[in-house]
Amino acid sequence: GRQFFVGGNFKMNGNINTIRNIVQNLNEAKLDPNVEVVIAPPSLYLLLAREHLRKGIEVAAQNVFDKPNGAFTGEISVDQLKESGITWTLVGHSERRVILQEDDAFVASKTKAALDGGLGVILCCGESLDQREAGKTIEVVTTQLKAVAEVVHDWSKIVIAYEPIWAIGTGKVATTQQAQEVHEEIRRWLATAISPEAAENTRILYGGSVTEKNCGDLAKQPDIDGFLVGGASLKPAFVDIINAKS
Ligand code: 13P
Repeated sequence: GRQFFVGGNFKMNGNINTIRNIVQNLNEAKLDPNVEVVIAPPSLYLLLAREHLRKGIEVAAQNVFDKPNGAFTGEISVDQLKESGITWTLVGHSERRVILQEDDAFVASKTKAALDGGLGVILCCGESLDQREAGKTIEVVTTQLKAVAEVVHDWSKIVIAYEPIWAIGTGKVATTQQAQEVHEEIRRWLATAISPEAAENTRILYGGSVTEKNCGDLAKQPDIDGFLVGGASLKPAFVDIINAKS
């Protein structure tokens, strides 16, 4: 079976004090040992989080660059992350696609660079409200994933996060049926575009207004293998989301 996976994406939130508190809270919490837990603080706090977090909880960057080093002001490389004990990175979050105008090819290139360098990748995808209302959800999501499939053939270190843009930070969570439907389609796409094994083994997370209140029903869906949590990952209730299955 696929190991349940819960990621916390802090986005551009927190400071030294609050990050310390979140880490201490996780260190002391009773977490379901069957769940893979990864937190993604702002890059400035990656080392702080890694130094203080207990073993068994991993740290992810929210972004990475696709070149190994050089004149790329403001960017961070895969090797720099790896050296600091960071084992995962998010790639293609909708906030980077929309606000920072990252296109599918750039997201794919970053995914390839991260995997080649030995990082796990949480690959984000998802449609806007307009795209959903136009009936284009599956087309949008598979187009985003296809760009990665063109350059990456081994998907064993990729976790997919389906995050409908209209559900992010809005309090408007997808219904269990809406989420399950897209997750099932992504798995079907994996079977044909990558391999039946990739379809069977790849974790597909749901993200978008996940809370301790709505996570239980979502976690019961057959194709929902965990969550990528934004706002609620900054709160003590993040522990309840991690333990959604127990
Ligand atoms: P919220 O949980 O705050 O809606 O954010 C979801 C998200 O974008 C996680 O990457």
